[in-house]
Amino acid sequence: MKSEAVNGNENVNASASANANANANANANGFASGSNRPYLLLTPGPLTTSETVKEAMLRDWCTWDNDYNELVQSIRSRLVHLATNSPEIYTAVLMQGSGTFSVESVIGTVIPRDGKLLVLTNGAYGKRIAQMASVYGIATSVLDFGETEQVRASDVEQRLQEEVDITHVAIVHCETTTGMLNPIADVAAIAKAHGKTVIVDAMSSFGGIPLDVHELQIDYLISSANKCIQGVPGFGFIIARTEALAGCAGQARSLSLDLYDQWSAMEAGGGKWRFTSPTHVVRAFDQALRELELEGGIAARHQRYKANQELLVNGMRSLGFCPLLQSKVQSPFITAFYYPQSIEFSFGELYARLKAAGFVIYPGKISAADTFRIGNIGEVYREDIAKLLQIIEDECFW
Ligand SMILES: *Cc1c(COP(=O)(O)O)cnc(C)c1O
Repeated sequence: MKSEAVNGNENVNASASANANANANANANGFASGSNRPYLLLTPGPLTTSETVKEAMLRDWCTWDNDYNELVQSIRSRLVHLATNSPEIYTAVLMQGSGTFSVESVIGTVIPRDGKLLVLTNGAYGKRIAQMASVYGIATSVLDFGETEQVRASDVEQRLQEEVDITHVAIVHCETTTGMLNPIADVAAIAKAHGKTVIVDAMSSFGGIPLDVHELQIDYLISSANKCIQGVPGFGFIIARTEALAGCAGQARSLSLDLYDQWSAMEAGGGKWRFTSPTHVVRAFDQALRELELEGGIAARHQRYKANQELLVNGMRSLGFCPLLQSKVQSPFITAFYYPQSIEFSFGELYARLKAAGFVIYPGKISAADTFRIGNIGEVYREDIAKLLQIIEDECFW
Protein backbone atom coordinates (compact mmCIF):
# COMPACT_ATOMS: atom_id res chain seq x y z
CA MET A 1 0.00 0.00 0.00
CA LYS A 2 1.28 3.43 -0.93
CA SER A 3 0.77 5.47 2.22
CA GLU A 4 1.41 8.79 0.50
CA ALA A 5 -1.36 7.97 -1.91
CA VAL A 6 -3.74 7.15 0.92
CA ASN A 7 -2.93 10.56 2.40
CA GLY A 8 -4.32 12.04 -0.75
CA ASN A 9 -1.11 13.40 -2.27
CA GLU A 10 -1.42 11.52 -5.50
CA ASN A 11 -2.44 13.38 -8.60
CA VAL A 12 -5.79 11.89 -9.57
CA ASN A 13 -5.28 12.41 -13.28
CA ALA A 14 -1.92 10.69 -13.15
CA SER A 15 -3.47 7.76 -11.34
CA ALA A 16 -6.24 7.58 -13.94
CA SER A 17 -3.90 7.37 -16.88
CA ALA A 18 -1.81 4.81 -14.98
CA ASN A 19 -5.02 2.81 -14.68
CA ALA A 20 -5.74 3.27 -18.35
CA ASN A 21 -2.25 2.04 -19.29
CA ALA A 22 -2.45 -0.87 -16.86
CA ASN A 23 -5.78 -1.81 -18.38
CA ALA A 24 -4.06 -2.69 -21.64
CA ASN A 25 -2.37 -5.72 -20.04
CA ALA A 26 -4.99 -7.55 -18.07
CA ASN A 27 -3.58 -10.24 -15.77
CA ALA A 28 -4.79 -13.80 -15.24
CA ASN A 29 -7.71 -12.66 -13.06
CA GLY A 30 -8.94 -10.49 -15.87
CA PHE A 31 -7.94 -7.47 -13.78
CA ALA A 32 -5.70 -4.78 -15.21
CA SER A 33 -2.21 -5.40 -13.81
CA GLY A 34 -1.50 -3.23 -10.76
CA SER A 35 -5.20 -2.50 -10.50
CA ASN A 36 -8.21 -3.94 -8.71
CA ARG A 37 -10.33 -3.19 -11.74
CA PRO A 38 -11.72 -5.88 -14.04
CA TYR A 39 -13.67 -3.28 -16.03
CA LEU A 40 -14.65 0.34 -16.01
CA LEU A 41 -18.16 0.97 -14.69
CA LEU A 42 -20.04 3.37 -16.94
CA THR A 43 -23.01 3.25 -14.59
CA PRO A 44 -24.56 5.84 -12.27
CA GLY A 45 -23.18 4.21 -9.13
CA PRO A 46 -21.67 2.18 -7.72
CA LEU A 47 -19.12 3.60 -10.09
CA THR A 48 -15.44 3.21 -10.76
CA THR A 49 -13.44 4.57 -7.84
CA SER A 50 -9.73 5.41 -7.69
CA GLU A 51 -7.19 2.90 -6.42
CA THR A 52 -6.51 5.22 -3.49
CA VAL A 53 -10.17 5.29 -2.45
CA LYS A 54 -10.20 1.48 -2.44
CA GLU A 55 -6.89 1.32 -0.54
CA ALA A 56 -8.31 3.55 2.20
CA MET A 57 -10.51 0.60 3.20
CA LEU A 58 -7.58 -1.69 4.04
CA ARG A 59 -7.72 -0.87 7.70
CA ASP A 60 -10.15 -1.65 10.48
CA TRP A 61 -11.37 1.32 12.47
CA CYS A 62 -12.82 1.36 15.94
CA THR A 63 -15.82 3.58 16.39
CA TRP A 64 -15.57 4.43 20.07
CA ASP A 65 -12.60 6.76 20.06
CA ASN A 66 -12.02 10.34 19.02
CA ASP A 67 -10.01 9.58 15.87
CA TYR A 68 -12.98 8.04 14.15
CA ASN A 69 -15.59 10.44 15.48
CA GLU A 70 -13.47 13.42 14.44
CA LEU A 71 -13.24 11.94 10.96
CA VAL A 72 -17.05 11.74 10.88
CA GLN A 73 -17.39 15.33 12.09
CA SER A 74 -14.91 16.51 9.49
CA ILE A 75 -16.85 14.71 6.74
CA ARG A 76 -20.13 16.27 7.93
CA SER A 77 -18.58 19.71 7.94
CA ARG A 78 -16.94 19.29 4.53
CA LEU A 79 -20.26 18.13 3.06
CA VAL A 80 -22.04 21.22 4.35
CA HIS A 81 -19.33 23.43 2.88
CA LEU A 82 -19.66 21.65 -0.47
CA ALA A 83 -23.42 22.29 -0.39
CA THR A 84 -23.52 25.96 0.53
CA ASN A 85 -21.68 29.19 1.19
CA SER A 86 -23.92 29.62 4.24
CA PRO A 87 -22.70 26.61 6.27
CA GLU A 88 -23.91 28.03 9.59
CA ILE A 89 -27.54 27.47 8.52
CA TYR A 90 -27.16 23.81 7.49
CA THR A 91 -26.08 20.50 8.99
CA ALA A 92 -25.16 17.13 7.49
CA VAL A 93 -26.42 13.75 8.69
CA LEU A 94 -24.89 10.48 7.54
CA MET A 95 -27.22 7.48 7.25
CA GLN A 96 -26.37 3.78 6.84
CA GLY A 97 -27.59 1.98 3.74
CA SER A 98 -27.86 2.84 0.07
CA GLY A 99 -29.20 6.16 -1.17
CA THR A 100 -32.82 4.99 -0.96
CA PHE A 101 -32.47 4.57 2.83
CA SER A 102 -31.48 8.22 3.15
CA VAL A 103 -34.38 9.38 0.99
CA GLU A 104 -36.71 7.25 3.09
CA SER A 105 -35.26 8.67 6.31
CA VAL A 106 -36.23 12.16 5.09
CA ILE A 107 -39.70 11.20 3.84
CA GLY A 108 -40.46 9.19 6.98
CA THR A 109 -39.18 11.84 9.42
CA VAL A 110 -39.74 15.39 8.22
CA ILE A 111 -43.43 15.30 7.28
CA PRO A 112 -45.69 15.70 10.32
CA ARG A 113 -48.74 13.45 10.82
CA ASP A 114 -51.04 16.14 9.44
CA GLY A 115 -48.68 17.05 6.60
CA LYS A 116 -49.11 16.37 2.89
CA LEU A 117 -46.40 15.69 0.36
CA LEU A 118 -46.41 16.76 -3.28
CA VAL A 119 -44.14 14.47 -5.31
CA LEU A 120 -43.02 15.57 -8.78
CA THR A 121 -42.26 12.56 -10.94
CA ASN A 122 -40.69 11.92 -14.32
CA GLY A 123 -38.97 8.61 -13.71
CA ALA A 124 -38.41 5.71 -11.35
CA TYR A 125 -36.75 7.67 -8.55
CA GLY A 126 -39.56 10.21 -8.25
CA LYS A 127 -42.05 7.31 -8.23
CA ARG A 128 -40.03 5.63 -5.48
CA ILE A 129 -40.53 8.69 -3.26
CA ALA A 130 -44.29 8.50 -3.81
CA GLN A 131 -44.14 4.79 -2.96
CA MET A 132 -42.32 5.50 0.31
CA ALA A 133 -44.98 8.04 1.27
CA SER A 134 -47.66 5.47 0.51
CA VAL A 135 -45.98 2.80 2.66
CA TYR A 136 -45.88 5.26 5.57
CA GLY A 137 -49.50 6.33 5.02
CA ILE A 138 -48.50 9.94 4.35
CA ALA A 139 -51.09 12.04 2.48
CA THR A 140 -49.62 12.47 -0.98
CA SER A 141 -50.30 14.31 -4.20
CA VAL A 142 -48.39 13.17 -7.29
CA LEU A 143 -47.73 15.37 -10.32
CA ASP A 144 -46.41 13.19 -13.11
CA PHE A 145 -44.69 14.49 -16.23
CA GLY A 146 -44.23 11.21 -18.06
CA GLU A 147 -40.77 9.85 -18.76
CA THR A 148 -39.21 12.31 -21.16
CA GLU A 149 -40.61 15.70 -20.08
CA GLN A 150 -38.97 17.97 -17.54
CA VAL A 151 -40.91 18.91 -14.41
CA ARG A 152 -42.83 22.11 -15.26
CA ALA A 153 -42.77 24.78 -12.57
CA SER A 154 -46.04 26.33 -13.80
CA ASP A 155 -47.85 23.02 -13.21
CA VAL A 156 -46.38 22.90 -9.71
CA GLU A 157 -47.68 26.39 -9.03
CA GLN A 158 -51.16 25.35 -10.16
CA ARG A 159 -51.18 22.21 -8.01
CA LEU A 160 -50.10 24.20 -4.96
CA GLN A 161 -52.99 26.60 -5.55
CA GLU A 162 -55.46 23.73 -5.96
CA GLU A 163 -54.29 21.76 -2.93
CA VAL A 164 -53.48 24.26 -0.22
CA ASP A 165 -53.03 21.52 2.39
CA ILE A 166 -49.72 20.46 0.76
CA THR A 167 -46.88 21.11 3.22
CA HIS A 168 -43.84 19.53 1.52
CA VAL A 169 -42.63 19.30 -2.09
CA ALA A 170 -40.20 16.59 -3.27
CA ILE A 171 -38.32 16.68 -6.57
CA VAL A 172 -35.48 14.62 -8.09
CA HIS A 173 -32.64 16.77 -9.41
CA CYS A 174 -31.15 14.39 -11.97
CA GLU A 175 -33.74 11.70 -12.76
CA THR A 176 -31.24 8.92 -13.33
CA THR A 177 -33.86 6.86 -15.16
CA THR A 178 -33.24 8.97 -18.25
CA GLY A 179 -30.47 11.38 -17.26
CA MET A 180 -32.97 14.27 -17.15
CA LEU A 181 -32.01 17.37 -15.19
CA ASN A 182 -35.04 18.94 -13.48
CA PRO A 183 -35.43 22.70 -12.81
CA ILE A 184 -34.94 22.62 -9.03
CA ALA A 185 -34.34 26.38 -8.75
CA ASP A 186 -37.70 27.30 -10.32
CA VAL A 187 -39.60 24.63 -8.41
CA ALA A 188 -38.03 25.50 -5.05
CA ALA A 189 -38.75 29.21 -5.59
CA ILE A 190 -42.43 28.48 -6.25
CA ALA A 191 -42.69 26.05 -3.34
CA LYS A 192 -41.09 28.60 -1.02
CA ALA A 193 -43.36 31.40 -2.27
CA HIS A 194 -46.20 29.16 -1.01
CA GLY A 195 -44.41 28.48 2.28
CA LYS A 196 -43.65 24.79 1.61
CA THR A 197 -40.72 22.67 2.77
CA VAL A 198 -38.47 21.64 -0.15
CA ILE A 199 -36.93 18.16 -0.44
CA VAL A 200 -34.48 17.42 -3.27
CA ASP A 201 -33.19 13.97 -4.21
CA ALA A 202 -29.80 15.05 -5.61
CA MET A 203 -28.44 11.54 -5.44
CA SER A 204 -26.80 11.36 -8.84
CA SER A 205 -25.94 15.07 -9.14
CA PHE A 206 -24.51 16.32 -5.85
CA GLY A 207 -20.75 16.76 -6.13
CA GLY A 208 -20.92 16.81 -9.92
CA ILE A 209 -22.68 20.11 -10.48
CA PRO A 210 -22.29 23.38 -8.59
CA LEU A 211 -25.29 24.30 -6.41
CA ASP A 212 -25.96 26.16 -3.17
CA VAL A 213 -28.78 24.78 -1.02
CA HIS A 214 -29.25 28.11 0.76
CA GLU A 215 -29.51 30.13 -2.44
CA LEU A 216 -31.86 27.51 -3.89
CA GLN A 217 -33.93 27.52 -0.66
CA ILE A 218 -33.69 23.76 -0.27
CA ASP A 219 -34.55 22.43 3.19
CA TYR A 220 -33.37 18.84 2.68
CA LEU A 221 -30.99 17.59 -0.01
CA ILE A 222 -30.13 13.90 -0.23
CA SER A 223 -27.19 12.15 -1.87
CA SER A 224 -24.99 9.11 -1.30
CA ALA A 225 -21.37 8.07 -0.97
CA ASN A 226 -21.13 6.19 -4.22
CA LYS A 227 -22.18 8.73 -6.83
CA CYS A 228 -20.47 12.00 -7.83
CA ILE A 229 -18.31 12.15 -4.69
CA GLN A 230 -16.83 8.88 -6.00
CA GLY A 231 -16.80 6.86 -2.79
CA VAL A 232 -17.97 3.27 -2.36
CA PRO A 233 -21.55 2.25 -1.47
CA GLY A 234 -22.65 1.91 2.16
CA PHE A 235 -24.14 5.16 3.36
CA GLY A 236 -26.02 8.22 2.20
CA PHE A 237 -26.18 11.73 3.57
CA ILE A 238 -28.68 14.49 4.09
CA ILE A 239 -27.85 18.19 3.98
CA ALA A 240 -30.57 19.71 6.15
CA ARG A 241 -31.51 23.24 7.13
CA THR A 242 -30.77 22.89 10.84
CA GLU A 243 -33.80 24.83 12.01
CA ALA A 244 -36.14 22.66 9.93
CA LEU A 245 -34.64 19.36 11.11
CA ALA A 246 -34.60 20.54 14.73
CA GLY A 247 -38.40 20.66 14.60
CA CYS A 248 -38.79 17.00 13.59
CA ALA A 249 -38.37 15.23 16.95
CA GLY A 250 -40.74 12.31 17.48
CA GLN A 251 -42.15 12.40 13.96
CA ALA A 252 -40.32 9.43 12.43
CA ARG A 253 -42.32 6.41 11.34
CA SER A 254 -39.24 4.17 11.58
CA LEU A 255 -36.69 3.58 14.34
CA SER A 256 -33.54 2.96 12.32
CA LEU A 257 -34.40 5.56 9.69
CA ASP A 258 -35.21 8.30 12.19
CA LEU A 259 -33.32 11.22 10.67
CA TYR A 260 -33.85 13.44 13.69
CA ASP A 261 -32.49 10.87 16.13
CA GLN A 262 -29.55 10.09 13.85
CA TRP A 263 -28.73 13.79 13.75
CA SER A 264 -29.14 14.43 17.46
CA ALA A 265 -27.00 11.37 18.32
CA MET A 266 -24.26 12.59 15.96
CA GLU A 267 -24.44 16.06 17.46
CA ALA A 268 -24.46 14.87 21.08
CA GLY A 269 -21.79 12.21 20.55
CA GLY A 270 -19.46 14.41 18.47
CA GLY A 271 -19.73 12.23 15.36
CA LYS A 272 -21.07 9.02 16.88
CA TRP A 273 -23.48 6.98 14.77
CA ARG A 274 -26.50 5.46 16.51
CA PHE A 275 -25.86 1.95 15.22
CA THR A 276 -22.82 0.25 13.64
CA SER A 277 -21.36 2.61 11.11
CA PRO A 278 -19.85 1.44 7.80
CA THR A 279 -16.34 2.35 8.98
CA HIS A 280 -14.42 1.27 5.88
CA VAL A 281 -16.85 3.08 3.63
CA VAL A 282 -16.55 6.22 5.74
CA ARG A 283 -12.76 6.09 5.51
CA ALA A 284 -12.95 5.62 1.74
CA PHE A 285 -15.38 8.55 1.56
CA ASP A 286 -12.92 10.76 3.42
CA GLN A 287 -10.32 9.88 0.78
CA ALA A 288 -12.84 10.53 -1.99
CA LEU A 289 -13.54 14.00 -0.56
CA ARG A 290 -9.79 14.72 -0.57
CA GLU A 291 -9.59 13.67 -4.20
CA LEU A 292 -12.57 15.88 -5.08
CA GLU A 293 -10.69 18.78 -3.53
CA LEU A 294 -7.45 17.86 -5.35
CA GLU A 295 -9.30 17.78 -8.63
CA GLY A 296 -10.30 21.42 -8.01
CA GLY A 297 -13.66 20.97 -6.29
CA ILE A 298 -17.15 20.55 -7.68
CA ALA A 299 -16.71 23.10 -10.50
CA ALA A 300 -13.69 21.23 -11.88
CA ARG A 301 -15.38 17.85 -11.54
CA HIS A 302 -18.44 19.25 -13.31
CA GLN A 303 -16.24 20.32 -16.22
CA ARG A 304 -14.71 16.84 -16.48
CA TYR A 305 -18.12 15.15 -16.44
CA LYS A 306 -19.49 17.63 -18.96
CA ALA A 307 -16.57 17.07 -21.31
CA ASN A 308 -16.96 13.29 -20.90
CA GLN A 309 -20.67 13.48 -21.66
CA GLU A 310 -20.25 15.74 -24.70
CA LEU A 311 -17.55 13.52 -26.14
CA LEU A 312 -19.80 10.50 -25.54
CA VAL A 313 -22.92 11.98 -27.17
CA ASN A 314 -21.06 13.42 -30.16
CA GLY A 315 -19.25 10.14 -30.71
CA MET A 316 -22.41 8.05 -30.32
CA ARG A 317 -24.32 10.32 -32.70
CA SER A 318 -21.64 9.86 -35.33
CA LEU A 319 -21.96 6.07 -34.85
CA GLY A 320 -25.70 6.42 -35.51
CA PHE A 321 -27.06 6.37 -31.94
CA CYS A 322 -29.71 8.91 -31.05
CA PRO A 323 -29.95 10.20 -27.48
CA LEU A 324 -33.38 9.93 -25.81
CA LEU A 325 -33.40 13.49 -24.42
CA GLN A 326 -32.91 16.88 -25.96
CA SER A 327 -29.53 18.31 -25.02
CA LYS A 328 -31.03 21.25 -23.11
CA VAL A 329 -32.51 18.94 -20.45
CA GLN A 330 -29.69 16.38 -20.52
CA SER A 331 -27.53 16.04 -17.39
CA PRO A 332 -23.76 15.64 -17.62
CA PHE A 333 -23.92 12.34 -15.65
CA ILE A 334 -25.72 9.65 -17.60
CA THR A 335 -27.20 9.51 -21.10
CA ALA A 336 -29.96 7.29 -22.47
CA PHE A 337 -29.72 6.20 -26.12
CA TYR A 338 -32.37 4.66 -28.33
CA TYR A 339 -31.60 1.23 -29.72
CA PRO A 340 -30.50 1.62 -33.34
CA GLN A 341 -33.18 0.84 -35.94
CA SER A 342 -31.45 -2.31 -37.21
CA ILE A 343 -33.28 -5.53 -36.32
CA GLU A 344 -29.87 -7.16 -35.84
CA PHE A 345 -29.28 -5.01 -32.74
CA SER A 346 -29.31 -6.78 -29.39
CA PHE A 347 -28.51 -4.89 -26.21
CA GLY A 348 -27.39 -8.15 -24.55
CA GLU A 349 -24.87 -8.68 -27.32
CA LEU A 350 -23.54 -5.12 -27.10
CA TYR A 351 -23.34 -5.40 -23.31
CA ALA A 352 -21.40 -8.67 -23.46
CA ARG A 353 -18.96 -7.42 -26.08
CA LEU A 354 -18.27 -4.19 -24.21
CA LYS A 355 -17.85 -6.02 -20.92
CA ALA A 356 -15.32 -8.34 -22.50
CA ALA A 357 -13.50 -5.26 -23.75
CA GLY A 358 -13.48 -3.68 -20.26
CA PHE A 359 -16.58 -1.48 -20.10
CA VAL A 360 -19.85 -2.06 -18.27
CA ILE A 361 -22.84 -0.06 -19.51
CA TYR A 362 -26.40 0.07 -18.20
CA PRO A 363 -29.77 -1.13 -19.47
CA GLY A 364 -32.58 1.38 -20.05
CA LYS A 365 -35.33 1.91 -17.51
CA ILE A 366 -38.28 3.51 -19.29
CA SER A 367 -41.38 1.81 -20.65
CA ALA A 368 -42.09 3.97 -23.70
CA ALA A 369 -38.98 3.14 -25.75
CA ASP A 370 -36.11 0.69 -26.03
CA THR A 371 -33.08 2.46 -24.61
CA PHE A 372 -29.80 1.77 -22.91
CA ARG A 373 -27.74 4.10 -20.75
CA ILE A 374 -24.10 5.04 -20.50
CA GLY A 375 -22.84 6.84 -17.41
CA ASN A 376 -19.74 8.99 -17.47
CA ILE A 377 -19.22 9.77 -13.77
CA GLY A 378 -16.62 8.24 -11.44
CA GLU A 379 -12.95 7.76 -12.16
CA VAL A 380 -13.60 8.16 -15.88
CA TYR A 381 -11.65 10.39 -18.24
CA ARG A 382 -11.74 11.50 -21.87
CA GLU A 383 -9.37 8.74 -22.92
CA ASP A 384 -11.75 6.17 -21.44
CA ILE A 385 -14.71 7.58 -23.40
CA ALA A 386 -12.60 7.73 -26.55
CA LYS A 387 -11.63 4.08 -26.10
CA LEU A 388 -15.26 3.07 -25.50
CA LEU A 389 -16.35 4.80 -28.71
CA GLN A 390 -13.56 3.11 -30.65
CA ILE A 391 -14.66 -0.30 -29.34
CA ILE A 392 -18.32 0.34 -30.18
CA GLU A 393 -17.24 1.27 -33.69
CA ASP A 394 -15.02 -1.83 -34.01
CA GLU A 395 -17.63 -4.19 -32.54
CA CYS A 396 -20.48 -2.72 -34.57
CA PHE A 397 -22.32 -5.95 -35.43
CA TRP A 398 -25.76 -4.71 -36.38
C1 LIG B 1 -28.99 6.13 -7.20
C2 LIG B 1 -30.19 6.94 -6.94
C3 LIG B 1 -30.97 6.76 -5.76
C4 LIG B 1 -30.66 5.72 -4.72
O1 LIG B 1 -30.59 4.45 -5.21
P1 LIG B 1 -29.91 3.30 -4.34
O2 LIG B 1 -29.98 2.12 -5.25
O3 LIG B 1 -30.67 3.15 -3.11
O4 LIG B 1 -28.52 3.77 -4.05
C5 LIG B 1 -32.03 7.61 -5.54
N1 LIG B 1 -32.34 8.58 -6.41
C6 LIG B 1 -31.63 8.80 -7.53
C7 LIG B 1 -32.01 9.91 -8.45
C8 LIG B 1 -30.53 7.98 -7.83
O5 LIG B 1 -29.81 8.20 -8.94
